[in-house]
Amino acid sequence: MSFKDYNFAGKKVLVRVDFNVPLDKETLEITDDTRIKAALPTLNKIIADGGSVIVMSHLGRPKLGFEDKFSLKHIVSHLSDLLGKEVKFCKDSIGEEAQKMSNDLKKGEVMLLENLRFYKHETAGDLYFAEELSKLADFYVNDAFGTAHRAHASTTMVANFFSGNKSFGMLLENEINSLEKVLKNPKEPFTAIIGGAKVSGKINVIENLMDKVTDIIIGGGMSYTFIKAQGGNVGSSLVEDNQMATALKIIEKAKAKGVNLHIPTDTVIANKFSNDAEIDECDIFEVPEGWMGLDIGRNSIEQFKEVVMNSSTILWNGPMGVFEMENFEKGTKSIAYSVVEATKNGCYSLIGGGDSVAAINKYGLGKEVSYVSTGGGAMLEYLEGKQLPGVIAMNNPTGFELRED
Ligand code: AMP
Repeated sequence: MSFKDYNFAGKKVLVRVDFNVPLDKETLEITDDTRIKAALPTLNKIIADGGSVIVMSHLGRPKLGFEDKFSLKHIVSHLSDLLGKEVKFCKDSIGEEAQKMSNDLKKGEVMLLENLRFYKHETAGDLYFAEELSKLADFYVNDAFGTAHRAHASTTMVANFFSGNKSFGMLLENEINSLEKVLKNPKEPFTAIIGGAKVSGKINVIENLMDKVTDIIIGGGMSYTFIKAQGGNVGSSLVEDNQMATALKIIEKAKAKGVNLHIPTDTVIANKFSNDAEIDECDIFEVPEGWMGLDIGRNSIEQFKEVVMNSSTILWNGPMGVFEMENFEKGTKSIAYSVVEATKNGCYSLIGGGDSVAAINKYGLGKEVSYVSTGGGAMLEYLEGKQLPGVIAMNNPTGFELRED
């Protein structure tokens, strides 16, 4: 059953959201409320049905116990504004006070529990803590995709105490559906654009996608390992020497499987890792000593654009260069605009992974692609073909089933 099919009238619903938002260090005001806004459809649906909502989340990485700067009390008034109703705040996440507040909660009312990670039991996936949370409600909704790859108490363990009375929220459901759409049922040609810093961080994703895609575009820092492995001179570009064999294996595998692997042919180079470095462009196999490649070059942009424009499905994870610096953002920006163009022509485009999302938002293009994922690590694990504990727990009507690693 989909989340939309449930009627929450009269139900006490415990909703795990991801309100791990950035706060200003001085004022402790929210500097980016994207994650809060992303949870609103789920919260509003429960409220509109006449259910009452017990919202829970983590915020930051507190070491042990209460720390003011990680308190979810800083979120309360903004959440109230966004929901257009009062949000009651409980200074604890479990125990007597939480229980009393939940018991007193009326139809359509909302309460927020204190940061779950003030208890070390949360990240430890403690069963006792999960059971205590479960006592606050009679239905559990998980809408926190960003932590679905963690077997934490509130994201995984707690689901086991709700047997049939549990569901993904709208956000998590959308995330899974969009990932399934590209992984299980992609319209071809299907292009994966993989960039970012290192081969080692993305190797499992590339391996898993190799059986599903028609084209793979490699960009970003990881390209130089591919080039050095093939005998190129990459100067002082980012290279993982211990991944060169892996890079060669990927090239071989792509050939064997008939996947078109596109590696940059030219690169923007700089004499230091800085926006005010001296800049030039060269063949990516001939980066001079003392220079480093920080973006893809203009020929690569043209080649990649053509591949993107011919695609019917695109999955993009990781920038093409150091897009945070204006002088090295052209590759990422150009690819972002071509993905938007392809989307306009009917291509399904899924963007995910912290930095590609940051990039697409930097250019204000978030609404012009098919889907922007909210989960960095969770999305990567999904793309690697791993089962996410938070998803397994939800699909499992009763009892426990955890993945082996
Ligand atoms: P990841 O988290 O692995 O997706 O990597 C993203 C980071 O890779 C961004 O912060 C980029 O600045 C960085 N990056 C992209 N291209 C390069 C490059 N050519 N050299 C060094 N860092 C890069």
